[in-house]
Amino acid sequence: MRPTDCRIRPRRRAAAMASVTVLTLTVSTAAGAGHLTAGSKTAGPIATARTTALTPCMITGSLGVQMSEGIPTPPGYARSTGTVRALNLMVDFSDAPGEGSALDRFGEFFPQTTRWFRISSYGRLDYRPEAPVGRWLRMPKPFKEYGIERGAPFDPGYRELVEDLVSVADGDVDFKAYDLVNVLVTPNAGPSALDTVLSVTFAGNAEAPAADGVPIANASFVYSRQDDGSGSYAETGYRVLPHENGHVFGLPDLYTQDGGGAAGHWDIMSEDWGTDNDLLGWHKWKLGWLDDDQVGCAAGRGTTEHRLTPLQQRGGGGKLVFVPIDEGTGYAVEVRTRGGNDVDVCRAGVLIYKVDADIDTGRGPINVVDSTRDSGGCTLSSNVHAELSDAPFRPGEHFKDPRTGIRIAVGKKDRAGNYRVYVTRR
Ligand SMILES: [Zn+2]
Repeated sequence: MRPTDCRIRPRRRAAAMASVTVLTLTVSTAAGAGHLTAGSKTAGPIATARTTALTPCMITGSLGVQMSEGIPTPPGYARSTGTVRALNLMVDFSDAPGEGSALDRFGEFFPQTTRWFRISSYGRLDYRPEAPVGRWLRMPKPFKEYGIERGAPFDPGYRELVEDLVSVADGDVDFKAYDLVNVLVTPNAGPSALDTVLSVTFAGNAEAPAADGVPIANASFVYSRQDDGSGSYAETGYRVLPHENGHVFGLPDLYTQDGGGAAGHWDIMSEDWGTDNDLLGWHKWKLGWLDDDQVGCAAGRGTTEHRLTPLQQRGGGGKLVFVPIDEGTGYAVEVRTRGGNDVDVCRAGVLIYKVDADIDTGRGPINVVDSTRDSGGCTLSSNVHAELSDAPFRPGEHFKDPRTGIRIAVGKKDRAGNYRVYVTRR
């Protein structure tokens, strides 16, 4: 059975608590260990190494934005480069006993998630999933007694669940050895993901219960199965996990109350249902997966020329141009083609989108500019926001923002598939 509306998937909440991390600094001192701890200075990409030429493009949100598109990502989240150790715990309940083996549940997400991160990060995120307890961890209370429902806050239900999880697993698990935790709940607990999505991440949560001296600050909970009945679950069902882990690394939700209409299928933080997709170049920069010389900052007056290579291609070359409007907003420009994690690009070209660091997670911090408005799109895939699937601009086309006068024109594409882009600002 398919969902009645494949384009608007059920919405999932990211509960970010980075704003409170400064209050509780329980920094782990374990040398060489992971960094579950919120407040760790190593959270996020290395932010201090940016060249000054990019400073005008490092937009930031004002205080009060829980989870912002701003760069750099504040401390408290898990680091997003280098070796990241992910602890996976499979849990079940007396009223929802695990079906099959716990390692089969683990196998729904790995090695696919590891591969997805390796491709998307150009090898910069070495994601190491571990499952030190190979069996179902039975929680002491029935599932329904935790009061877990869609949009449920951390307190009291999730706090109790994490406390119980720690007490049940602590004998077998050294929690301080890990950077993040994935709680893979038996799929028969709670409603079907087609009805309501329970999966949730609590990120930068320094007030979470502690284990082995560190708070469980960055934890993703995955429920049910994202199985639309189309037969693609084995290939695409894992995608909820890289989405949830995206929050652990500090990325906001891009879908809104209206579904995927703001950013379409151009980022897994927008749509994690359906076929594989990548992250936007802005997110890759935010996560530390692009070198400074791969990012162009078009902050000056006049016209600047930029050469962009397809975002999904491994290797060097320009990947992102940013055109700041003010200290909190700007336009991002990148080339999207089919390949890598982007398996459903039906109109290759230059994708332009507005980034607003003052708009919070789930409220549309990124809006893709549609080069072909009201076309209906070009995708043949279900679970892909259709209208924005043909959003990229092609050679000879341009976008102009009447309010700011910013003009972004697409020049020639060379034989290797690289595009020339011209940015003009007054
Ligand atoms: Zn989310």
